[in-house]
Amino acid sequence: MLLAVDGLTAGYGAAPVLHEVSFSVRSKEIVAVLGANGAGKTTLLRTLCGQLKSQQGQVVFDGVDLRGVKVERMVRHGIAHVPEGRGVVTELTVDENLQLGGLWRKQKPALDGIYDLFPALAQRRRHLGHQLSGGERQMLAIGRALAAEPRLLLLDEPSLGLAPKITAQIMGLLRDLRDRTGLAVLLVEQNVRSALSVADVGLVLSLGRVVTRNNAAALAGDADLRHAYLGF
Ligand code: ATP
Repeated sequence: MLLAVDGLTAGYGAAPVLHEVSFSVRSKEIVAVLGANGAGKTTLLRTLCGQLKSQQGQVVFDGVDLRGVKVERMVRHGIAHVPEGRGVVTELTVDENLQLGGLWRKQKPALDGIYDLFPALAQRRRHLGHQLSGGERQMLAIGRALAAEPRLLLLDEPSLGLAPKITAQIMGLLRDLRDRTGLAVLLVEQNVRSALSVADVGLVLSLGRVVTRNNAAALAGDADLRHAYLGF
């Protein structure tokens, strides 16, 4: 087991948003985190990457208890987070953004592998973040996370504002990465069909609680669950 979350309770103030959330992620597994607006998906990723402190419960990553560990150490342990809205530094070049992603590594990141994955970025190495299209910015945000050489990627709404073709390209890339590098992905996605098409497993949240964790094909085929929690 790469990540084991047990009884995680977390939120922004005294009242928790996540209530005793438990699930696990294996190496090389793509897990889609699904649920209606406000279900707590983004809050879950923020807690797992160390941005938000948990109130209760355990987060064990590769055998190490990561409760209370700060973002920097999370990255060193092998967890990288791509926030909703992407977090690319628009005043820096593509190259500089990627360098930033490897800041907490002991050695300078090897960017060639990332440029191989994203040929569109390779052609724009010296362009500033704000000169990129939405799709290129998302690719840069993922590339920047990969520069830290993570074993688990926490990816929040990668399809936000992107054309279906670009979204499909990014989803395909996640599978490719998983197959090539063994990366595990926790994917938050409003586009449920798209997420289930790429994920091995779906984790459905409702009002901060886990409704079910099941394989993606079974979830896609469960009409009652789809209607109740996934809106299609
Ligand atoms: P969405 O798809 O709408 O982002 P989500 O499932 O990701 O939904 P969260 O963003 O995790 O949901 O929000 C869960 C709850 O936490 C919501 O009730 C929201 O209002 C609350 N919340 C989110 N961010 C904050 C914040 N910074 N401060 C206080 N409450 C917040």
